[in-house]
Amino acid sequence: MAATLQTRASSINRALDQIGDKWCLLILQEIFWGVNTFNELLAASGMSRGVLSQRLQWLQDIDCLKKTNNKDKTNRPAYHLTRKSNDLYPNALAAIAWERAFFNTPELDQVTLRHSLCGKEFSPIVRCRSCNNEVLSEQVSYTQGPGQSQDLREMKVRRRSSISIMDAPSNKPFYKNLIHIVGDRWTANIVALAFHGFKRFDEFHKELPVATNILADRLRFLTTEGIFEMKAYQEKPKRHDYVFTDKGRGLYPFFLGLLQWGDKWCGGESGVPIIAKHDACGFDLKARTCCDQCLQTLEAHDVSFEGRQFN
Ligand SMILES: [Zn+2]
Ligand SMILES: [Zn+2]
Repeated sequence: MAATLQTRASSINRALDQIGDKWCLLILQEIFWGVNTFNELLAASGMSRGVLSQRLQWLQDIDCLKKTNNKDKTNRPAYHLTRKSNDLYPNALAAIAWERAFFNTPELDQVTLRHSLCGKEFSPIVRCRSCNNEVLSEQVSYTQGPGQSQDLREMKVRRRSSISIMDAPSNKPFYKNLIHIVGDRWTANIVALAFHGFKRFDEFHKELPVATNILADRLRFLTTEGIFEMKAYQEKPKRHDYVFTDKGRGLYPFFLGLLQWGDKWCGGESGVPIIAKHDACGFDLKARTCCDQCLQTLEAHDVSFEGRQFN
């Protein structure tokens, strides 16, 4: 039997266990842009055929992809998004916005996102459906939901893979820096815990009881990547808090998207495991991703990507 790990049930973790693997994130990214046959995906991702086949099967098993034959004359099988994976659209927008804010990605600079309802170039912004204010991580608190429980999670092979997503040959690598951070399950779990207010090694370890060397490795990685900074809270012996930098905090819309997606698509019958409350208005948090120009909710069919890669 595969080794397992028990953690507090969380929709973010459930979402990550389904689609948080870097290859799955990369496949979904490519399919969002319309790259959808096996050979195109092979060329764009740099994966081996075996890994690609395995991930495509997994994404079909969890109802995030469906395979049909192309209606053009090639009649080749092609992979398409489902209702479930289409619901990850706000995450794709959040990922692009984060990449724009914190990295220099020349391919991305050449792309314009336009909102057809107002005709303007826009950035996505996350607002509360109740009070309409922008949702900031420090104004959201969490309490136990009706589905609060423990999840038994398979360990699988989750060493940080030596093949870097940064080397993927895709010509639309619009958020590979995000995949580089989020595409490792334990790394992403730690970021999620930090958004819940945890900041010390022992706190992380209590919630995520992986081997201490794995936890130390992921914390070091997140610090090196500029997601956390270390702040000493004790001198003898020296002890640190891991706190978000602006770049780290900037990942919040993506993680909030995972939370809402996991609540909707990865839940049990008993209800959500954790309730998020918007402290600014006191209501349970239901967020929407909207256009910063006209404030209307962004829908995939109202957004166009303009640029060389899309001509
Ligand atoms: Zn609110
Ligand atoms: Zn607009």
